[in-house]
Amino acid sequence: MIFDTHCHLQFKGFKDEYGDVLKRCQEKDVALNIVGTQKDTSRAAVEMAEKSSNVYATIGLHPVHLFPTHIDEEESSFLSREEDFDEKFYRDLAQSSKVVGIGECGLDFYHLPEGIDKKVVFAKQKSVFLKQLKLAEELKKTLVIHVRDAHKEMIELLEENTQPNSLQAVVHCYTGNWSDAKEYLDLGFYIGFTGVITFPAKKLNPQPTLDILEVVEKTPLEKIVIETDAPYLAPQAYRGQKCEPWMFLTTNNAQKLFHLG
Ligand SMILES: [Zn+2]
Repeated sequence: MIFDTHCHLQFKGFKDEYGDVLKRCQEKDVALNIVGTQKDTSRAAVEMAEKSSNVYATIGLHPVHLFPTHIDEEESSFLSREEDFDEKFYRDLAQSSKVVGIGECGLDFYHLPEGIDKKVVFAKQKSVFLKQLKLAEELKKTLVIHVRDAHKEMIELLEENTQPNSLQAVVHCYTGNWSDAKEYLDLGFYIGFTGVITFPAKKLNPQPTLDILEVVEKTPLEKIVIETDAPYLAPQAYRGQKCEPWMFLTTNNAQKLFHLG
């Protein structure tokens, strides 16, 4: 069995396909952690986990859902729905034995809502993240951290609010450099890599890719987990398609070369 530590099979894009996608994952012996981003996607993740073996759920509130924000990414474009952290809701949901993590939560200074003072946004993101961090510690669940353009602030928050190794955590979809990664490793955290590590370096700006590959090389193997972040970030061999969790098994071009499917 191989474990996709972070995917979003409950997202709308999989609505009519979930059964088929799940079947393909099961055929290839891929276990799943379906990660929530707000109330409805967290609830759906738990429902899916409870119905199938080898499917688990993580529940929490993503920082882009604290204010209405227009998200325009390569794979999708949507207006995020505003939500406040309803601790009781998540606490109740965490009663399910299939809930393994809290998140994804964290700081995102890249997607900022228009017309709201940055300071207000940052303060809100920090307080909502800390509530989830405390809940994860208390319930002894793994914290699934999202951090974008906010590494320094994240490390400060973690250093002020945790003891090294007091918290089981993963920094998901890691795309930073080695010196930043080292700071998470020093806290005892795991690093999650997505299909991004299979993307070729950009000709005009190869450094970010070289940085990520340096992190892959230097991170101790026992601290690495893999994930797809499906439906996003299909590995290079499937680039342009909607990502499904099993795709990380077949990023080897030999399989395409010999039509091994
Ligand atoms: Zn995600």
